[in-house]
Amino acid sequence: VTVDVLPMRRIHATLALAVFLPAAFLLASCRGEAPARTSSRSGGPVIIISIDTLRADRLPAYGATGVETPVFDALAADSIVFENAYAHVPLTLPSHVSMLTGKLPAEHGVRNNLGYKFDPGIPSIPSILKARGYATGAAVSSYVLRGAVGLGPVFDRYDDEFDQKDGSIGEIQRPGPETVARAIEWITARGEPPFFYFLHLFEPHTPYTPPEPFRTKYEASPYDGEIAAADAAIGPLIETLKSSGLYDRSTIVFMSDHGEGLGDHGELEHGIFLYRESIHVPLFLKLPDNELAGTRVRTAVGLVDVFATLAGDDAGPGVSLVSVARGERPDRRIFAETMYPRIHLGWSDLAALADDTWHYIEAPTPELYDVAKDPAQKSNVIAENRRVYSALRKEMASFDRTLAAPKAISDEEAAKLTALGYLGGTPIMHGESLPDPKDRIGDMNAFLEAGTRLQLGRPGEAIDLLANVLDRNPTFADAWTVMGKAYQEAGELEKALEAYTQTIELAPMLAPGAALSMSEVYLKLGRFDECIEHAEIAREIHPGAVALVVARANLARGSLAEVEREAASLQTDPARRADGQIIIAQVRTAQKRYDDALAILNAVAAGLEGRKPPANLWFARGDLMARAGNMPEAITAFGEETRLYPGNREAWVRLAVIHALSGSEAAANETFEKMVKANPGRSSYALAAGALRQIGRADLAARWDPR
Ligand SMILES: [Zn+2]
Repeated sequence: VTVDVLPMRRIHATLALAVFLPAAFLLASCRGEAPARTSSRSGGPVIIISIDTLRADRLPAYGATGVETPVFDALAADSIVFENAYAHVPLTLPSHVSMLTGKLPAEHGVRNNLGYKFDPGIPSIPSILKARGYATGAAVSSYVLRGAVGLGPVFDRYDDEFDQKDGSIGEIQRPGPETVARAIEWITARGEPPFFYFLHLFEPHTPYTPPEPFRTKYEASPYDGEIAAADAAIGPLIETLKSSGLYDRSTIVFMSDHGEGLGDHGELEHGIFLYRESIHVPLFLKLPDNELAGTRVRTAVGLVDVFATLAGDDAGPGVSLVSVARGERPDRRIFAETMYPRIHLGWSDLAALADDTWHYIEAPTPELYDVAKDPAQKSNVIAENRRVYSALRKEMASFDRTLAAPKAISDEEAAKLTALGYLGGTPIMHGESLPDPKDRIGDMNAFLEAGTRLQLGRPGEAIDLLANVLDRNPTFADAWTVMGKAYQEAGELEKALEAYTQTIELAPMLAPGAALSMSEVYLKLGRFDECIEHAEIAREIHPGAVALVVARANLARGSLAEVEREAASLQTDPARRADGQIIIAQVRTAQKRYDDALAILNAVAAGLEGRKPPANLWFARGDLMARAGNMPEAITAFGEETRLYPGNREAWVRLAVIHALSGSEAAANETFEKMVKANPGRSSYALAAGALRQIGRADLAARWDPR
């Protein structure tokens, strides 16, 4: 197909509109009439399937042989396959926002997973299609893409209803089959198009823990096992589309938001480097009636082109993928950036320009690769290609790379931080001559190892590793955060506070998370005012966690009305409803309304349906029983709490105190032994000694005084 009559940019728009919108709709909108569906090939569903962290070269559609993906292969066979598609950021949130808005990061303003929010007023695929009469839905699988970051309001229905409360942000995820089930439910309920759906699976992201049968089949390569699991998860969606007759009419974009390092250049995961393994992503475009199926396109494209294609809008940097598939070769390089090293690690940010021959990475020591000859990017050929380098460096200078202040820190939050004495400066925002990430990647891997040791319950080893990393990289904000957690686990609470303070000082965009952790430490220390002040900094970003910690602080200091207010806000959060009910039961206990308290706790327990009881459920029961004078039941309940949550020192203390008060001194000592074993550190000894003195047993307390 040759289309040389119209100027290029108009061609993209025209082609995109012709393919993706019903002809009658275009005519109707000219005449101001309601759109009508007249053609089977138009007005069909528009669906984006995004498989997080999926390296293009690990898919059979791109030549990989280590994994079987029958569903993705079949979709690729019905699609245009882009062989050189690039993400603009190797990070989930900014990458998806670029794809949905057609804007590069500096333009849409979301530069990192943490610390930035999407402005729902920016035109996006869902908002544009919605204005054209499409119903719009989404289901996502990662906390990073939760609706509260600004994506929720631009869809009619944005399904992020999964447990968002435990683990680090990378760990909070919903299994693919569950997310796909939500998508199928919504699509089936719609019945007739036009509709747009955005489906996001998190499977290949760490931790690599595929379910059976993939766990066994891919034991030697669990990353591939995750890819196979994602493939299997998508199967039912494709089946549903086919059985309902929608598949042929559908436009389906299959993509990933970034790749995964897997150690190729020293990085295990993603976010730091901009080599091909991090930003080269799979991209298929299945058109209605499988138009152009089997076309393989070598021309480099970017995820912003998905927006240009689906929204029919090429005013930004994107061009229509259909035009490119028809042979257009736009004169451009695909831009990518990562601010992650600057924000989290105190290292230089990186930027890249890639086409189907060259891959340029701007860094303190710049790199140039001839990817046509050297796709693994083993040899930097910058010295032999000075002219290419100089042209690319010049082109790079035309891209806006300034790092704006984080948007997720509102003026109000900034004021709260200042009031607490933080934000003396923001060195990471303005730092010059920062280290080159490729010279420091070993420290990143030591940092990850520290995280693993911490998860294995070996905080002392984590502290040693982190001390080493921080010695060389004192502005490594993430290492300070994990150091805070390690000290917290080790019971060195004052040192934990110091470490978190470093994070806040270094990277204000990470302040909410660090301040929330500090509030938990202050709660443990019984410093309730500081607990609440720090929690408030995180209120906007982590409303549920903040409500919970503030409620607990108020419960501890007896401000019961405040507790009820916070607990009420937890009732609307499915992931925290039980926590809210437990807190209310504790209020009723404090009010001596024991029957009411017991009824609430029984209701929470009845609703568990075999799941692990939430923290404090048994503790609250034990407290209730003890106050009501039923010591045998109290001992059972506190025992259950400590078995399930050995980190709950208050439960150990209550158990030991009951033993001591009932004359079982040996049992009391044994209980405290178990407590300090599960919660090492001076503060646990001090807690034991303090509790015994409070009940007048100075004789027993002496052996627990910290030395
Ligand atoms: Zn991602």
